[in-house]
Amino acid sequence: MNSENTQATILLIYTGGTIGMIRDSQTGLLKPFNFARLLEEVPELSKFNIKIDTYSFPEPIDSSDMHPGIWAELAGIIGSRYAEYDGFVVLHGSDTMSYTASALSFMLENLGKPVVLTGSQLPIGTIRTDGKENLITSIEIAAARHNSLPVVPEVCVYFEYKLYRGNRTHKYNAEHFDAFHSPNYPALAEAGVHIQFNTAAFLPMPAAALRVHTAVNTNIAVLKLFPGITPQLVQAVLHTPGLKAVILETFGSGNATRQPWFAQMLEDAIQRGIIFLNITQCAAGRVEQGRYETSSAFARIGVVGGSDMTTEAGVAKLMFLLGQNLSTEEIKAQLSVSLRGELSQVI
Ligand code: ASP
Repeated sequence: MNSENTQATILLIYTGGTIGMIRDSQTGLLKPFNFARLLEEVPELSKFNIKIDTYSFPEPIDSSDMHPGIWAELAGIIGSRYAEYDGFVVLHGSDTMSYTASALSFMLENLGKPVVLTGSQLPIGTIRTDGKENLITSIEIAAARHNSLPVVPEVCVYFEYKLYRGNRTHKYNAEHFDAFHSPNYPALAEAGVHIQFNTAAFLPMPAAALRVHTAVNTNIAVLKLFPGITPQLVQAVLHTPGLKAVILETFGSGNATRQPWFAQMLEDAIQRGIIFLNITQCAAGRVEQGRYETSSAFARIGVVGGSDMTTEAGVAKLMFLLGQNLSTEEIKAQLSVSLRGELSQVI
């Protein structure tokens, strides 16, 4: 697809993660090391006809320490250097990569260039590392252009030969190189002998200029239902000080216990202005409130059905919307529509 004469320029950003880790000789634990050494492990990069500039976070982290402050920093870096580059590659630990990809998709409104998140299951300095292929192909994807336009105008996750829409991904395997799934949306590209782009699945190229939103509100909770859940637990979560919104992780197509105390507690919380988003615990498929009797109360009391959104996308979307100074009704309306391709709208 790279049919251009001019050299593509990309910015490679290192936040941390296994790809750049080394085993501490004293403790035996994996910890982040320095970015320059990571690049030394991939001499292949100098063979690319792509100009690669780099930016490393001063203190690389294991992505389990990721937080919205770093999402905002990342979005700010991409926003302030947007005009200079054809695409961006973000090296990130796989543990919370789907959360960061989701958050960036909301923060970068009208994105028209690729932002590819990648990492690895084995450090790049180890012989069997998956990091080299992930890094090299991500750079190629971020640099790909066609008719002077970047090929992929989205925030994506690239792992083990597959490119996915970032806000559709879920880390499902802690061990396999193939660590991510996109259960409800097809891959955007597959890397074999050639990189095959599934252009029909891309978001449309935006007509307006990039807008970067960095404000978020983290006063949310994820309440995963299970048989035997107690009123005390639900009560405690719903009375968390400052709470603004709750993702209810429900059974199957969005179902929950019919015990009266449960619906009553939700209704009370809704009266207090708390927003509820219904997302299924199933890895694939979608929420259909009202299909079963066990979900019929939700629509009546004002719980928003999350369709086939992942919990990761739901968390990022709620934090983003709560940060935008919208009314409760506006937030509820935006939750059930697709803002960045994060859910399938059923008409
Ligand atoms: N714990 C690591 C992290 O998320 C795992 C990885 O990089 O894949 O940073």
